[in-house]
Amino acid sequence: MAETSLPVDAPVLAVLGGGQLGRMLAIAGIPLGVRFRFLDPSPDAPAAALGPLVVGALGDASALDETARGADVVTYEWEGVPGDAAARLAARVPVHPSVRALTVSQDRLHEKQLFTSLGIGVPRFEPVDDRDSLARAVAEIGVPVVVKTRTGGYDGKGQAVVRTERDADPAWDAIGGVPLLVEQLVPFTRELSVVGVRGAGGTTRCWPLTENRHERGILRRSVAPAADVSPELQARAETFMSRLLDELDYRGVLALELFEVDGALLANEMAPRVHNSGHWTIEGARTSQFENHVRAVLGWPLGPTDARGVSTMVNCIGALPDPAAVLAVEGAHLHRYGKSLRTGRKVGHVTVVADDRDELARRVAALERVLPADNG
Ligand code: AMP
Repeated sequence: MAETSLPVDAPVLAVLGGGQLGRMLAIAGIPLGVRFRFLDPSPDAPAAALGPLVVGALGDASALDETARGADVVTYEWEGVPGDAAARLAARVPVHPSVRALTVSQDRLHEKQLFTSLGIGVPRFEPVDDRDSLARAVAEIGVPVVVKTRTGGYDGKGQAVVRTERDADPAWDAIGGVPLLVEQLVPFTRELSVVGVRGAGGTTRCWPLTENRHERGILRRSVAPAADVSPELQARAETFMSRLLDELDYRGVLALELFEVDGALLANEMAPRVHNSGHWTIEGARTSQFENHVRAVLGWPLGPTDARGVSTMVNCIGALPDPAAVLAVEGAHLHRYGKSLRTGRKVGHVTVVADDRDELARRVAALERVLPADNG
């Protein structure tokens, strides 16, 4: 692996996963003098433009060894990294966030049990392992429920909504055969997320609550700071976040997805990494989630997380807009990930920043006129 010679004090950060998140970590960390190295199964990984890439599976021992060799810290941008592989690396080189954070986030049951043990509210849930226990859980929780695979699901994949008890059998046929979790389908007023970061000394900071809109299980749009958030609601979310960060002895950025239901917050899931709902922080906050993640895992002081004005982040899914048209919109910032276009694939995003919500609405309306008609 060829590496250019840089000052000896330039730390090397090995990132497991070379997607857009790894790419944006490097875009934030390179100005700080950090050298990046990535492991990804694809030779076309978006992060490869920013540092040497080891091509291999994220659980492949020799590829992991090659990626971690000489690195000061290992981090990951995909929570699918096998826990045992991360644990093996952690015996030799610091791995942040903690392996426990990684493994808990890989199982929806363990995640919900952790939330509950920390006093973080969740929708009613039951683990099920077969057709009969699924029918029992549906009857006990009461329809409507959502059935999810405990492991391996993302972006709404591995999920089935059960609206009548008769839908339980087809749900088992669709996604059963593996351990499942049945959850009450909560009538949320909106989806929010809190993104937080914990540094070396246990210092914790949170960005303002973000409102997220999903369609077909994929994040389409985020608005930050979310409108109509009382100081109490923000404080509640930050309390959840600090409990998790402290319990997991966490270093780096953690995202917690929440449902707002009757003014209360229920946790849906967490991601032990930088998160799509935090992309707005690049231009819309005083320090981005990417820079603070790099700072945290390297043991450097964290930057302030306050918002600069108000932002809307729009994902580009399966298609990209004309760059010149986007850049003509006041306050718009375009990020293209260097990925080939495919239906349902996140290939870029645009963040629009403004000083106030009225101006933001005008700018977003101008952006909408230049987005591809079928954005995903
Ligand atoms: P997830 O993969 O758990 O993030 O779920 C994807 C999307 O499905 C969420 O962002 C929600 O829009 C919806 N969803 C998931 N779980 C629930 C639930 N328990 N109640 C209501 N909506 C849900």
